[in-house]
Amino acid sequence: MAKKYVYLFSEGNASMRNLLGGKGANLAEMTNLGLPVPQGFTVTTEACTKYYEDGKKISDEIVEEIYKNMAILEQINNKKFGDKKNPLLVSVRSGARVSMPGMMDTILNLGLNDDTVIGLAEATNNERFAYDSYRRFIQMFSDVVMGIDKNKFEAILDAVKEENGAKYDTDLTAENLKEVVKRYKELYKQEMGVEFPQDPKVQLLEAVKAVFRSWDNPRAIVYRRLNDIPSDWGTAVNVQTMVFGNMGNDSGTGVAFTRNPATGEKALFGEFLMNAQGEDVVAGIRTPQPISTLKDIMPEVYNQFTEIANKLENHYRDMQDIEFTIERSKLYMLQTRNGKRTAQAALKVAIDLVNEGLIDEKEAVLRVDPKQLDQLLHPMFDAEALKAAKPIAKGLPASPGAAAGKVYFTADDAVEAAKGRGEKVVLVRMETSPEDIEGMVVAQGILTGRGGMTSHAAVVARGMGTCCVAGCSAALIDENEKVMKIGDVIVKEGDYISIDGSTGNVYLGEIKTVPPSLTGNFATLMGWADRYRKLKVKANADIPRDAKVAVNFGAEGIGLCRTEHMFFAEDRIPAMREMIVSKTEEQRRNALNKLLPMQRSDFEGLFEAMGEHPVTIRLLDPPLHEFLPHEDEDIKALANEMGMAFEDLKATVESLKEFNPMLGFRGCRLAVKYPEIAEMQTRAIIEAAINVSNKLGINIEPQIMIPLIGDIKEMKYVKEIIVKTADEVLKEKNANLKYQVGTMIEVPRAALTADEIAKEAEFFSFGTNDLTQLTFAFSRDDAGKFLESYYDKKIYDFDPFAKLDQNGVGKLVEMGTKLGRQTRPDLSVGICGEHGGDPSSIEFCHKAGLDYVSCSPYRVPIARLAAAQAAIKDEK
Ligand code: ADP
Ligand code: MG
Ligand code: MG
Repeated sequence: MAKKYVYLFSEGNASMRNLLGGKGANLAEMTNLGLPVPQGFTVTTEACTKYYEDGKKISDEIVEEIYKNMAILEQINNKKFGDKKNPLLVSVRSGARVSMPGMMDTILNLGLNDDTVIGLAEATNNERFAYDSYRRFIQMFSDVVMGIDKNKFEAILDAVKEENGAKYDTDLTAENLKEVVKRYKELYKQEMGVEFPQDPKVQLLEAVKAVFRSWDNPRAIVYRRLNDIPSDWGTAVNVQTMVFGNMGNDSGTGVAFTRNPATGEKALFGEFLMNAQGEDVVAGIRTPQPISTLKDIMPEVYNQFTEIANKLENHYRDMQDIEFTIERSKLYMLQTRNGKRTAQAALKVAIDLVNEGLIDEKEAVLRVDPKQLDQLLHPMFDAEALKAAKPIAKGLPASPGAAAGKVYFTADDAVEAAKGRGEKVVLVRMETSPEDIEGMVVAQGILTGRGGMTSHAAVVARGMGTCCVAGCSAALIDENEKVMKIGDVIVKEGDYISIDGSTGNVYLGEIKTVPPSLTGNFATLMGWADRYRKLKVKANADIPRDAKVAVNFGAEGIGLCRTEHMFFAEDRIPAMREMIVSKTEEQRRNALNKLLPMQRSDFEGLFEAMGEHPVTIRLLDPPLHEFLPHEDEDIKALANEMGMAFEDLKATVESLKEFNPMLGFRGCRLAVKYPEIAEMQTRAIIEAAINVSNKLGINIEPQIMIPLIGDIKEMKYVKEIIVKTADEVLKEKNANLKYQVGTMIEVPRAALTADEIAKEAEFFSFGTNDLTQLTFAFSRDDAGKFLESYYDKKIYDFDPFAKLDQNGVGKLVEMGTKLGRQTRPDLSVGICGEHGGDPSSIEFCHKAGLDYVSCSPYRVPIARLAAAQAAIKDEK
């Protein structure tokens, strides 16, 4: 049988999400539930994939299937597509497997042309409505399908409004709208060189193709990369009978959540606009009304709506985000999906649903997106500092959290300031659109002058966990001049403001922020997560302060302490440099002796912060030249300081330069050439452990980790130095303390020979940053320069430094683990580096049977939750 590419809504259901996309599957499910859904059909994601395979063409068989289903729609509605008397109009809507808000484009009122618009006017006895629909269609089709700048249409609309003294779109008369349509068509002809397409079938196929194409527009690609969505999923296309919210004052359109998406509170939350269509609500054309006022305007519709909302929530057992339209007092459901929510709301909803008996604890753990927890772990305004501050304006509290930063008025400027100059940025826009996505990503906070709680800025900010104040109408924002006026206050580009996404307040200047509290719902859910996870979660921390943060966030140890970070401090770097430029072993030992007490006290601090939690300390790793100055002037100053000749020091600096420092004199190679470095560090570690063990009366078992091992003999050589030194210290101090010596597995050769290496190594820690770098053969510091092209050309979907490459680097991890445990069954295996805090990589680590992941302190809760989710999914 030939493959089926088109499904009527009545033929699908919610489980067919991969094929029908989320929107299509849920429209089908709502149809099955007997809800009032305008009927339609879904062109599958497979059709989209085929479209790309066929060189961006819709095959004849698919076209035929579309027409066949169109004929069925005509029958259902008793209207005809393209008919002059009783025309059927449809919307063409995209819908990927997972919702990608604002990323893909929708076209409404398709099927209108110069003839059918007259038919529509007569059939509805509403000429104004017919032309309102037609002008919308021309604009959307031109923008979405043909790529004509929509601002040009907006300009025409504004001009006609002004000419006729109309404040809102709804003030325009039928005659005014005819004029708009006339000018729109002229603009189209001018831009495209041909007339606006009058054949509905052409309109339809062009629109379907445009949706397929939009899967690959730049903002969709950025969104996919940010959200781990593979590029080969494709989008489905939904063709749906139009219902009209713009038929007059007994019609309208709206969006609503079954619970508050900002707080999680169980109460209907949403907005609607009377006499409006589609995106009017979210585009901020007029200010929408809260859903509760619908109760007074149309009590019956309101009751029906709340019933349906409840039904949907119970059916999906999750908070729903619902789109609806009212056509002449009759309610239609246009979309439902699990609503996006803040982390705070996600926790509350998950826990409430457990208490309401709709889901169990495990399900609740699966409901919270680990990445989202980040929102809760970030600062709020300091209460005292806030008291002293006076808001200069108030907008809508669209996405919680607090942010202070310099104001930038365009996404590009924001990116440049944040990435280029490392500034904290607040992006200020009249309203945001998907083009602004990169600026929104880098911003601490987002402030808009227009738009409601469901505006683009609000939805996207909540998804990213970025603080957002939307619809701050008191702010007169001039994006061209790059200034914002609030009353008498003038805020220029680069000035500081602070915004509070939980209250909507906007402040001038930079207000101090404080860390969040980790009690209540957060603690409850994390408790559940800890109950189910198998992986331990440790932190990468080099200093006591970070270690304390990590423990606070639930870290069960330090998986990686990088000792080099300690040497960059002002009071240490001179001794470090002295050590590096030493000519003889004796000189070097002298310098190392100066470093010893500093290292020891660093480690004491760490051990004290961690108590009996295990601490893994890595020996010196980076290329030595990183510690030396490179400008002549700085070299001169240092030479002076050290009583050396400038030429002499310069020669040493030169001699340490390497063509490929990442492949150079670093890692365990330092200890092989200068064993005294490893001796000093071992001594510092063991002495510190003894001191703190005695002081606190606990047992500390330090784990000493050797970096960049690639060969068993290398491992053996360095381990012997460590063991000899450690035993010496223990004897000197007459102490009895256990310690372990293990290695990073970060050189591919180490993974390949892990069975041999495990003969000496008592534990493994996969350093997946270097392992990725060395497996791909690209430098992490330079890869950014070409990775963009790899994403554009679809060679890679994601950054392998952010998300573990499971097929390649992952194989080395699996192999290394297996080989290592062949030799040493109780070998403890973990992972440190960026991937240790990335949920999909953590799931991989769980499956590969690792014992723990180690990540930066702020990611510890994320890792705990991700580890629990991996375990629960595995069980299923
Ligand atoms: P998005 O994914 O961006 O939300 P949608 O496909 O949901 O895009 O369309 C956006 C809006 O267009 C809907 O919320 C709804 O208001 C309107 N819309 C879509 N299809 C129809 C239809 N058949 N009848 C009336 N309005 C529609
Ligand atoms: Mg929608
Ligand atoms: Mg490394």
